[in-house]
Amino acid sequence: MMDRRPVISGNWKMNHGPEAAASFFGELGSAGGAARVIIFPPALSLPAAVEAARGTGVEIGVQNVHAEVSGAFTGENSAAAAREAGATLALIGHSERRHVFGETDDQVAAKVARAVAEGLEPVVCVGETLDERKAGRLEEVLDRQIRAALTTLPSDGAFLIAYEPVWAIGTGETATPDDAAEAHALLRDRLTEARGEVAAAVSILYGGSVKPGNAAELLAADGVDGVLVGGASLRASDFRAIIDAAE
Ligand code: PEP
Repeated sequence: MMDRRPVISGNWKMNHGPEAAASFFGELGSAGGAARVIIFPPALSLPAAVEAARGTGVEIGVQNVHAEVSGAFTGENSAAAAREAGATLALIGHSERRHVFGETDDQVAAKVARAVAEGLEPVVCVGETLDERKAGRLEEVLDRQIRAALTTLPSDGAFLIAYEPVWAIGTGETATPDDAAEAHALLRDRLTEARGEVAAAVSILYGGSVKPGNAAELLAADGVDGVLVGGASLRASDFRAIIDAAE
């Protein structure tokens, strides 16, 4: 079913062990009414987060999955194990995965395929680096990343896209609402070209230094259907303020 409530999602990255995860949900309380609320805890904290989030309305996703079903991939997490542990979504191609761990567009597409096969709703991140933006390559980069992901994203539109300019992630630099609107319009065009009417079911989130103080104006930007929050998702009070900005 098409769910186009504003999406407020938090990526904890490599922060919050099982105990901190449980405390976070204790403090946050119930969420997920007017907004769809999602948290991506690190894999080891996922079962604790699933347990603590039960009944709160918050959905839980895994931050990364391996493209293979199982096997000799020491240290990796399979999509099936994430699903079994209670995740219902998978973040794929986060800029840290692409730029720190060298994930390619092809790997992102393969991970999307695996996540979908195991019943996880993919949230695919795309975004340009500062050099790419300065070189006027915004459109080319987003186009390449979204087209690659669309080769395996489900045809029924059951997925989310996050536009996260790499220069705005964890830097305190935020895209202006106009920057976000421009990129979102481009992505929306590509989705519509590829999926026709079904594209209307897909939410496109903005991510990059979203905070309680700027969430409302970013959420109000044209074509911004929600946010993906890193640093400001770690404290329940900050995350609550961002949820409130959407509701
Ligand atoms: C992120 O990790 O997806 C992110 C946007 O981080 P931050 O909000 O800290 O910039």
